[in-house]
Amino acid sequence: MKILTVDDNVESLYLLEAMLRGAGCGYQVVCTHNGVEALQKLEEQKFQLIISDILMPQMDGFELCRQVKRRKGLRDIPFIFYTATYTEQKDVEFGLRLGASRFIIKPAEPEEFLSNLRGVIQEPDTSFLVAAPPPPEVDEVLLIAYNQRLVNKLDQKVQQLEQLKQKLERALEEKEAELAARRKAEEQIAMARDDLARSNAELEQKVEQRTAQLVETNASLQAFAYTAAHDLKSPLRAINSFSTMALLQYGEKLGPDGRSLLQRVVGSAEQMQRLLTDLLEYSKMSRAELRLEPVDLHQTVSEALALLDADVRAKHAVVNVAEPLPEVIAHPATAMLLVHNLASNALKFMPPGVQPQMRIRAESVPGSMPVVESPQPTEPAGRKTQHDSQLLTSDRSCGMVRLWVEDNGIGIAPQDLERIFGAFERVHSKLAYPGSGLGLAIVRKGAERMGGRAGVESEQGKGSRFWVELMRAEKPQPGATLSVKA
Ligand code: ADP
Repeated sequence: MKILTVDDNVESLYLLEAMLRGAGCGYQVVCTHNGVEALQKLEEQKFQLIISDILMPQMDGFELCRQVKRRKGLRDIPFIFYTATYTEQKDVEFGLRLGASRFIIKPAEPEEFLSNLRGVIQEPDTSFLVAAPPPPEVDEVLLIAYNQRLVNKLDQKVQQLEQLKQKLERALEEKEAELAARRKAEEQIAMARDDLARSNAELEQKVEQRTAQLVETNASLQAFAYTAAHDLKSPLRAINSFSTMALLQYGEKLGPDGRSLLQRVVGSAEQMQRLLTDLLEYSKMSRAELRLEPVDLHQTVSEALALLDADVRAKHAVVNVAEPLPEVIAHPATAMLLVHNLASNALKFMPPGVQPQMRIRAESVPGSMPVVESPQPTEPAGRKTQHDSQLLTSDRSCGMVRLWVEDNGIGIAPQDLERIFGAFERVHSKLAYPGSGLGLAIVRKGAERMGGRAGVESEQGKGSRFWVELMRAEKPQPGATLSVKA
């Protein structure tokens, strides 16, 4: 069976075709898009059924039906209206008056639609009822009714368009308001951004000025500390020497009280000398250029222990060095000073009557990155020393070495573990354990200046384990860089 479908909406046409083919009755479907196209097809081919929409351009469904029912060769083809726009009872009546077999409202369920279709196909042939063209006066009545339907539909469309227009106008107004708000917000953001950029620039300028001031102040302070310590050293040495000489030559004559007073002068002068030496050392550590080179830790440790030999003997200390010790990248004198400070503390901070047990060992710390601190650009007043900027780079493949100095001394409370690395920080009595409070500050500063770190693990009453981490002196892997730039 061949069916002609007519609809200007391509999707509707496709859905209708799918529904007919899906019925499984072997319907052959030919699609057209308006009445004119449909009439052409009807003239070319034979069809057993026409299914048509109503609202279409060029020629609508009503006119198509009227034309079909007026033509002799076509009028007996059953005609079905399938529409979503003409849905009033008067539309249905008009469609049926034109000779249509059914008037179905879109969208219809496939079941319902196909059962209507089958009904039409099985209906007895009624073509003889409209066999002859209607008399002119009847045709005129039909045309008037047709016009009414059209005018009616046009009215509805005009109303719909008016509503749509109002909606669009409202949407446009909303969009314009939205756009204006967005433009305003963007202007505010741009202004805020400008303000921020200005404040940033001002802030940066202030930070630069303040940093320059601080560097200058720091330089002056360091220069002052250096000069003061340096200049105080010789009068102090003189006080110490003359007091010692006075003790030796006139001690007998002074009597016990006089001797005791003079001995205290000597003791204080010695302590002050120690403080000045450490102060100069610390100041040097912050400012001086440190040229790094491969250093044998075995030699460093031996030299440091040699300086402490008298102390070791006096205290009957047991010193254990776990050989072999590796080579590191360091400044030889600074490395020796660091080990000396840690070892002398290990001998010093002992409970009374306990034999000092010191152990020195090294271990690898793979994968940690060295960080080299540049010397501060400070100069003693009136002196101009050339400080070379130092840049040290190393890739992770070189690794670090951690040198441990462990003791069985008094230990340190957990809350003091970090504090003791600050300058002049002491946590034990000065009377029982004399010192300047600068030894560990020198250790940390020195380690950092050589691209390493320093730290401690300790438990009160159970001893301490101080460590210094330095770069391992190994042949760099291919592609790795290890350099010290002056
Ligand atoms: P100093 O030894 O001149 O007092 P340091 O900077 O070397 O100064 O040490 C700071 C403080 O850290 C010491 O006063 C002491 O309280 C503590 N300390 C340092 N080394 C040890 C140690 N091996 N055992 C216990 N306490 C220590």
